[in-house]
Amino acid sequence: MSNKYEAVIGLEVHVELKSKTKIFCSCSTEFGGEPNTRVCPVCLGMPGAMPRLNKKVVELAIRTGLGLNAEITKNCHFDRKNYYYPDMPKNYQTSQFYSPIIRNGYLDIEVDGTTKRVNISFAHMEEDAGKLIHAGDNILEADQSLVDFNRAGVPLLEIVSAPDIRTPEEAREYVAALKAILEYLEVSDCKMQEGSLRCDANVSIRPVGSTELGTRTELKNMNSLRAIERSIRYEIQRQIQVVEEGGQIQEETRTWNEGKGITEAMRPKLSSGHYRCFTEHNLPPLAIDEAWIEEIRSNLPELPEARKRRLIDEVGLPEYDAKVITASKRLADFFDETVAEYSDAKKVSNWIMVELLRLLNAKGIEIEDCPVRPGQLAQLLAMIDKGEISGKMAKDIFEKMFDTGKDPKTLVEELGLKQISDTGALEAMIDEVLAANPKSVEDFRNGKDKAFGFLVGQVMRASKGQANPKLVNEILRKKL
Ligand code: ADP
Ligand code: MG
Ligand code: ZN
Repeated sequence: MSNKYEAVIGLEVHVELKSKTKIFCSCSTEFGGEPNTRVCPVCLGMPGAMPRLNKKVVELAIRTGLGLNAEITKNCHFDRKNYYYPDMPKNYQTSQFYSPIIRNGYLDIEVDGTTKRVNISFAHMEEDAGKLIHAGDNILEADQSLVDFNRAGVPLLEIVSAPDIRTPEEAREYVAALKAILEYLEVSDCKMQEGSLRCDANVSIRPVGSTELGTRTELKNMNSLRAIERSIRYEIQRQIQVVEEGGQIQEETRTWNEGKGITEAMRPKLSSGHYRCFTEHNLPPLAIDEAWIEEIRSNLPELPEARKRRLIDEVGLPEYDAKVITASKRLADFFDETVAEYSDAKKVSNWIMVELLRLLNAKGIEIEDCPVRPGQLAQLLAMIDKGEISGKMAKDIFEKMFDTGKDPKTLVEELGLKQISDTGALEAMIDEVLAANPKSVEDFRNGKDKAFGFLVGQVMRASKGQANPKLVNEILRKKL
């Protein structure tokens, strides 16, 4: 970034709350399903249909607020946010405008080794809208769109950060940290691909040193952490260029085009005044009593920061390992379950960070769908220690475990991969190699150490990689 400007970023994150039923009716919230089959008069917005608030949704919202160090608004209510668009047949979204259930929280993030606090201004409950499916997947080019109301009425929590974020990296880290906390709290699935966590980014620039906020644009349609970082980076550069060329930033909503790697103007931004929000009188005001909040507080699970500390202090992991492993609750669970059966924690963390994460990444699989179970990784590590397989073989076997879900023992037998540790068999093999390579033997005896490595390599080759390398070394040295 040009050092004349600084970026100012505020994020609005919508998360789907993990409730079996919708926020104001008893339709199922399950993802998928034939279009328009999980609907009723309430979530279709039929005139006269009366909403009823789902208690579970309020509980999940409170839980989130407590996890984000926030205040809970004990007396709050819902409002109508009026707009006209085919995804919402009522022509208003039931949301909380005047009294969000959560206020004044914060989240600490770490970027480049420094900790930074991002304030969370508020978070409010609302209903999701229906889903528009644009022909060709591109809203700007589609000549027709279909609508599916299964998602209408699914409970959302919109978490709004203060404009405290300054770089694309911080934005990414904020969303990653928020996602981790929400997963630990078990309030949302947080699947960006399925849309259960969506992020809008508000971006502006200003001259370095200025304390005023510049005109912002709002970015939508980012489906991954990477897309959040990339879209913001692009948008900052675009804004700098507009300003440098003497132009003005338009306050507008822009859509991220993942294929082209650019943001594109979509519509002028509507400010809250345009929505003419007013209280929803079909729902009574919501009074939350202290005792309920305290009950929820007393049941809060361990959060990422505390778990990271525990892995450092009690399990003895280096800080870096602990951070990578606790970034996802499911990964941390995988670690704990493996260590329960194989006690060398550092070795387990190495395998998780290097092999497991690499394969998950390469195959595009989430940890919860990982075909290898923690007990199977523990078995594999024990087999290396017993000398049944070499470390190198273990890596190949691990990849096969990943592809087939089979136990390492089964795979070793099926593939005939057992490490050869039988001294008699190894001696015979080594004798053959020595007889076939008299020149190398002579070289070695004349002080050329390289020749030794070559001979070891020949034995490993003859055994198809299955000879126990430690024993090969010992026997070879003896024979030479
Ligand atoms: P809206 O009416 O669009 O919801 P809000 O004032 O509620 O507007 O702000 C939404 C988000 O935009 C917040 O995360 C806030 O921090 C951020 N934001 C507001 N003004 C700016 C700005 N000038 N530059 C960057 N982000 C901003
Ligand atoms: Mg907004
Ligand atoms: Zn319904």
